[in-house]
Amino acid sequence: MNFESFGEQTVAIHAGEAPDALTGASAPNIVMSTTFAVDANTGFSVETMNENDPWLYTRWGNPTLHQLELKLAALERAEAAVVFASGMGAISALLLHLLKAGDHAVVSDVAYAAMSELTNDVLPGLGIEITRVNTADAASVADAVRPDTRLVYIESPCNPLLRLTDIAAVADIAHGAGARLVIDSTFATPAATRPLALGADFVVHSLTKYLCGHGDALGGAVLGSRADLAPLRKKTAIRLGGSLSPFNAWLIMRGMATFPMRMRVHEDNAMRVASFLESHPKVSRVIYPGLPSHPQYELARRQMRNFSGILTFGMADGRAEAARMAPKLRVVHYAVSLGHHRSLLFYLHGEDLLKSSFRLGSPQQLQSWHEFAGEGLFRLSVGLEDADDIIADLRQALDD
Ligand SMILES: *Cc1c(COP(=O)(O)O)cnc(C)c1O
Repeated sequence: MNFESFGEQTVAIHAGEAPDALTGASAPNIVMSTTFAVDANTGFSVETMNENDPWLYTRWGNPTLHQLELKLAALERAEAAVVFASGMGAISALLLHLLKAGDHAVVSDVAYAAMSELTNDVLPGLGIEITRVNTADAASVADAVRPDTRLVYIESPCNPLLRLTDIAAVADIAHGAGARLVIDSTFATPAATRPLALGADFVVHSLTKYLCGHGDALGGAVLGSRADLAPLRKKTAIRLGGSLSPFNAWLIMRGMATFPMRMRVHEDNAMRVASFLESHPKVSRVIYPGLPSHPQYELARRQMRNFSGILTFGMADGRAEAARMAPKLRVVHYAVSLGHHRSLLFYLHGEDLLKSSFRLGSPQQLQSWHEFAGEGLFRLSVGLEDADDIIADLRQALDD
């Protein structure tokens, strides 16, 4: 079925699914089988695998995983998707697919910590050269690309700063240099931005976050053209083996059915919580793409149809405030991760992060970091509880 003419909510519910042909079951079955009975002429190597071959072995493909891939592709308006056991599983498979020894990649100087750490030593250890730039400044990307650049990697908004990158501008720069553009769109989600339409070649999601939405299943995905994803599936998805459990795929599909409506509530709640925090005397700074005070508010309005549910704020002596507030919170959980129906708060200390995860070389990079992060930042993933209850919980924890 072609979903192009349907609304997002209909796509989220129906894409990839149909009543089961055998039983009439309306909800998708979970196919947990790792292997499938085949005829005796079936080939054994992934080298001879074709897209429409019968199911053979779940690491190669599985009916439940396939349903999730179709649903994700329909929502992102991508030709194809490949799912993985986690967001990091998706990112590592994609990077190892696109890069080899002798290649050069330009990556956002601030990105998801594990991704950034992967580019600190693992990729250079394989002979891949990395240049880190603040991709919010398109001119720095243009300065960094070279004839051997194969890949430009961005996040918008980036974790944890919520700094934005102009996707269309950076896509032009990457393509002008003969490189591919990868974007991790976990924070924006398909409800806000469709990066493929803006020129990105690959979109990555941690399904663990908004797409699952309930904090009970890890998962990841890479989306892009059929021509790009068929070799990715063969080369690194199947061979590196970061396969998603069909049970998790089923949980993620179930979560995705309400994804567009959840994103509207995440945004409404985040807007209200952001305004409350901006007016609180103890809060020195609030960063949220939906606030006119965001340094890139114009770009946010141009590039995001939904401002999503993550904001950051600063307080004097953040580490001590975090220790004081964490045990007082009742609605908000003091925990990592984001995009769940529950509100989640976590404090990230600036100097610690600069030592462990990010290597910011230039004064311009450090200046941009401090503009967004100050000494440290509280990352708040605003959940789907009643906004009044989230605000009341934060108020009682903030006030002595
Ligand atoms: C959480 C996250 C990841 C990693 O996803 P996992 O599912 O935890 O492996 C990658 N990118 C961003 C932006 C994230 O927030």
